[in-house]
Amino acid sequence: MIDCLFCRIIAGEIPASIVHQDDDLVAFEDINPRAPMHVLIIPRRHVATLNDLTEAEDGLMGKVVRLAATLAAGRGFADSGYRLVLNCNEHAGQSVFHVHLHVLAGRALGWPPG
Ligand code: AMP
Ligand code: ZN
Repeated sequence: MIDCLFCRIIAGEIPASIVHQDDDLVAFEDINPRAPMHVLIIPRRHVATLNDLTEAEDGLMGKVVRLAATLAAGRGFADSGYRLVLNCNEHAGQSVFHVHLHVLAGRALGWPPG
């Protein structure tokens, strides 16, 4: 996916503040943070939206969620709390079409979301 921003971050073609990488996942600081902690976790495999997930990604998405919990805990937010967000398509405001999990923490987050 040569024209995918997040694939290009994975490939090292676009710089990012990477906080974790392994065989399956990359995590990096959001360029426009909405909370004191705002990390994005992406699978290395290009999947455009949640609508495109298949059973083959079930384990991968489990890893995404568990990494989010690990990163939040590592920054001391396990008890105070954090929010995980997956935006899909227009009404949710998805702007990058490579599945990514937002990990937000460090302030009280309003509910319901906007
Ligand atoms: P979404 O609106 O759910 O598609 O989220 C896309 C996120 O990617 C936004 O929070 C952006 O701030 C973030 N973003 C866009 N470009 C970059 C970049 N080059 N590095 C890090 N985060 C980015
Ligand atoms: Zn991609």
